[in-house]
Amino acid sequence: MKITDIKVYNLRYPLAEPFANSIAWNTARTAGVIEVITDAGVTGWGEGVSNLNETAVRDRLVGRDPFDIEVIWNDLYLRGGVGFSELSAVDIALWDIVGRTLEMPIYRLLGGGFRDRIPAYASGLFLQRKADMTRTLADEAASYVDMGFRAVKMKIGFGVDYDVTNTAAVRGAIGDSILLAVDANCGYDTGTAIHVGRRLMENDLLWYEEPISTDDVSGYREIRQALGVRVAGGEALQGRWAFRNLIQERGLDIVQPDISDAGGFTECRRVAALASDNHVRVLPHMWGTSIRLAATIHWQATLPDSPDTLNPFPSLLEFDMTENRLRTELAREPIRAVDGDVAVLQGPGLGIEIDREVLEEYANAGSI
Ligand SMILES: [Mg+2]
Repeated sequence: MKITDIKVYNLRYPLAEPFANSIAWNTARTAGVIEVITDAGVTGWGEGVSNLNETAVRDRLVGRDPFDIEVIWNDLYLRGGVGFSELSAVDIALWDIVGRTLEMPIYRLLGGGFRDRIPAYASGLFLQRKADMTRTLADEAASYVDMGFRAVKMKIGFGVDYDVTNTAAVRGAIGDSILLAVDANCGYDTGTAIHVGRRLMENDLLWYEEPISTDDVSGYREIRQALGVRVAGGEALQGRWAFRNLIQERGLDIVQPDISDAGGFTECRRVAALASDNHVRVLPHMWGTSIRLAATIHWQATLPDSPDTLNPFPSLLEFDMTENRLRTELAREPIRAVDGDVAVLQGPGLGIEIDREVLEEYANAGSI
């Protein structure tokens, strides 16, 4: 089998209502999607976290055997010319091709699933342009519980007053039995992160995500030791070497690689091995289209509970609740959470079929 061509679709979906994390306002959702075409009539789909360079990728892939996944990964990484967005997108597409060719879902190619349903957490609760943010967040959080989610994550990092008031309001709205994580998107320095964290501890946090920049390994260790709460991070790290110090130095309790940023299935499996080696939990980050969501589900199905006990820490899937047609309509059969769980996809490859009309509608509509 040979790769005959590739196509890149740099997608941009404008949001009806902007929202913000601690760093920036989002006015559009973006992604780089690749279609890898073979001489066997099989096409694979992949996604990178940002715009993809079509020419650079085509030059490196045409004529290659798509089953040579690790050989191609090494070549793309070592010979330069492409970044981790392209590496990740290509890797996901090649696994999709292999799965479609062998008529097997990717999670089975990777060694099989530890679960056929993944408990999801509702990931939302951003800052919005609303007069009463506290009421807005409480209502949004309560709606997730009504949908059946047993865990939610909210955005913090907007200053101590906002964080304390709104975390308490969200905890009040969801009650004591729902798991609650907070995410500061690297919005604080170490001292502020500890100060805010101490004030939030009474809300029984599941984890404290990206309190500070992930290049500050000793800062992460200080926060873990000062607060005694699980600390999570690593969603923007690329390649196994970027994760090494944070994991080996025990800066994190939970590492969150993003399959479209860290290097695809191939590299995420290496990061998971490194994490396992150091007794660090892996819970993938997910913030993309149907393609990235499908890929994340396949990978997460293959991650064992750690420790594997009668009542393990849940392997929670990040389920993005914000408006984005690229996630809700790019696959012909939408991937839904039902009673707070997402079923592992059972079709060949990624297990989704792309709606080309939706793809074309948002393709190449401007740079990221
Ligand atoms: Mg995050």
